[in-house]
Amino acid sequence: MTVQIRLARTVKDLLQMAQTEYFDAGHRTCQGCESAMVLRWVAKAAGPNTIVIGATGCMYVANTTYYTTSWALPWIHTQLSGTGSAVVGTAAAIKALIEKGRLPNERINVIGICGDLGCADAGLSEVSNALTHTKYNFLILMYDNESSANTDIQETTMTPFGALTSFSPSGRQVRIMKYRWKKNMAAMMAVGHPEVKYVATALAADPIDLYNKVRKALEIGGPTFIHTLDPCPKGWGYDPKYSHEIGKLAVETGIWPLFEIENGKFRLTSTSARIASGELKRKPVREYIRRQTRFKHLTDKDIEYIQSKVDEMWEKWLIPGLIPLTKELPYPEATKTE
Ligand code: SF4
Ligand code: MG
Repeated sequence: MTVQIRLARTVKDLLQMAQTEYFDAGHRTCQGCESAMVLRWVAKAAGPNTIVIGATGCMYVANTTYYTTSWALPWIHTQLSGTGSAVVGTAAAIKALIEKGRLPNERINVIGICGDLGCADAGLSEVSNALTHTKYNFLILMYDNESSANTDIQETTMTPFGALTSFSPSGRQVRIMKYRWKKNMAAMMAVGHPEVKYVATALAADPIDLYNKVRKALEIGGPTFIHTLDPCPKGWGYDPKYSHEIGKLAVETGIWPLFEIENGKFRLTSTSARIASGELKRKPVREYIRRQTRFKHLTDKDIEYIQSKVDEMWEKWLIPGLIPLTKELPYPEATKTE
């Protein structure tokens, strides 16, 4: 393994990124898996002084088959809902060993990786609890493929409205089984844990944005959280060669706003910032929905409904992607008593 060159905190193009791969060839994810690409960029951004903790999920099952692994970093498996306690325990052990002089006093990154089931559902209370441990340094990365993909594409609370999964098929009696709206995890983590200094959304199709966000999260200190949206050809139903295109469309249609909250300051980033400034026009959500067979049963009216919800987020929310209070309902008025 070559020695990593010290890089500036953030980069402007791919050539400025670390060239060494710490999540390398040899994994067994599906062709076109964007979660694998997320791990590649995250590992590059973190560099060699990093311990990765992976909860049960696609990125555990496919990357650590017996006697093979694509990780060129120390990696620990934790059970499905165990990411929060595993990262706090590891970060606390590192801190104690440094204080006792048994480890050199240098930054060791601790990154907990969990999928939407392991992070937003089964492991939510642990992740939330971990984010209150402000004296330890770690990043929790939630890779969201909008289903429990490695156990046959089951529905999670992160599955979007209308999507087909093995738990939400479309039938003659009930055409749309998943009728609830997806949870807004990054917003929950930011608003509910105001002492956390860095929370962001990202995706593999915008690697510079993702890379820079990982570096910021790791350097700022304390607990941090990043939520990535990861197109999954197997679960979403499209040709694997279009993974990046589908990811880009999620941002360009406004379905997936890219943002960061750094030391309490909210900022839309990359394409989402250009949409908010008026430089880019949001594409219709139809361009994203009609590319995936998980939405093949949706009617034009269903798509209009999704469009209206996305429009509402951009045009009426106090902060697009973050605070769903509407501008028409000023907070002091809403709480006034007679
Ligand atoms: Fe990746 Fe989806 Fe395949 Fe899992 S099922 S390895 S998330 S493409
Ligand atoms: Mg998942």
